[in-house]
Amino acid sequence: MTDLRSMTPEELTAWCKNLGQPAFRGKQLFQWFSRGVTSVDEMTDLPKSLREEVAAAGFSAPAVERKQVSKQDGTIKYLWRLADGNCVESVLMRYHHGNSVCISSQVGCAMGCAFCASTQGGKVRDLTAGELLDQVIFTEKDSGAPISNIVLMGIGEPLDNYENVMRFLTLVNHPAGKNIGMRHISLSTCGLVKGIDRLAEEGLQLTLSVSLHAADDETRSRLMPVNRAYPVDDLLDACRRYFQKTGRRISYEYALIDGVNDTPRHARLLADRLAGTIAHVNLIPLNHVEESPLRPSRRVAAFQKQLEERGITATVRRRLGSDIDASCGQLRRKAMTAGRKGEDAG
Ligand code: SAH
Repeated sequence: MTDLRSMTPEELTAWCKNLGQPAFRGKQLFQWFSRGVTSVDEMTDLPKSLREEVAAAGFSAPAVERKQVSKQDGTIKYLWRLADGNCVESVLMRYHHGNSVCISSQVGCAMGCAFCASTQGGKVRDLTAGELLDQVIFTEKDSGAPISNIVLMGIGEPLDNYENVMRFLTLVNHPAGKNIGMRHISLSTCGLVKGIDRLAEEGLQLTLSVSLHAADDETRSRLMPVNRAYPVDDLLDACRRYFQKTGRRISYEYALIDGVNDTPRHARLLADRLAGTIAHVNLIPLNHVEESPLRPSRRVAAFQKQLEERGITATVRRRLGSDIDASCGQLRRKAMTAGRKGEDAG
């Protein structure tokens, strides 16, 4: 199948030319997709012959399966139904500096982190570049909120879907489309060292977030199976290489879990490891996930203070959309199962 939604304007131009259409039709097509059309009939300035070709190539758009709006802060959680019936979630967050959308990179996740709901059913499949892009386009279209920032922090591990994520970045950054600058995009990884090294080579100005959650191998391996393949030393070495190559400060995510990774010893270990590096630590009080024995820490402020005393910048992440379970790690597998219309996604 020709996946038109995942094509760059240049590729669409080649596709149009192949059909005997003038070159400028490619860019037009890309612009229509960027506006979130759901049917070829909306592409009013394209000739019927081309519209028929587009329809024949199998053009589809995600449908809003479910939408929850936070009463507290206007955060919106979308559950999208994709063409094959699978579902993924995106979250629109409103900040003073602009609107940000948190998008999913895979249907499910293979990484198995102990505290995360998205991984509970394993990975179903990767999302295509078009499906990544559509989360941005349709969140903006449905909400009417102009999107200026993107975080790849939803369901899935972006570096485990490397090619499609790179293609998505090209598409979303394209001047003929959303034209969102790399500095307005963050990518979060659980720490796939090979992917981090590969990303460093791309020379992109995006922000890399690394989900650390513990600075010692014993604790980290317990929480994140990926640590057995890429222990803390290897991961932090890759982060250093990334910084050397790109000059971009890395942001470390640290979800504070009661009694597991939030003791003064853990803060000391973290400070020891990050001392002398250009880093920023994002402390997230753990969001509780149904059926999980892990609980949010009660030592967030003390942990932050300990890091700051050692000269490490640490901020505590605001919890947007907590009334609709839209926070990190709460995008649930339950919501991805087909045929459960109307069931609570959180
Ligand atoms: N796979 C990527 C991106 C998705 S998770 C990654 O691991 O970074 C986005 C962030 O939410 C990660 O930092 C992840 O560790 C964190 N997270 C997952 N479950 C959480 C929970 N229950 N509470 C707080 N943060 C959580």
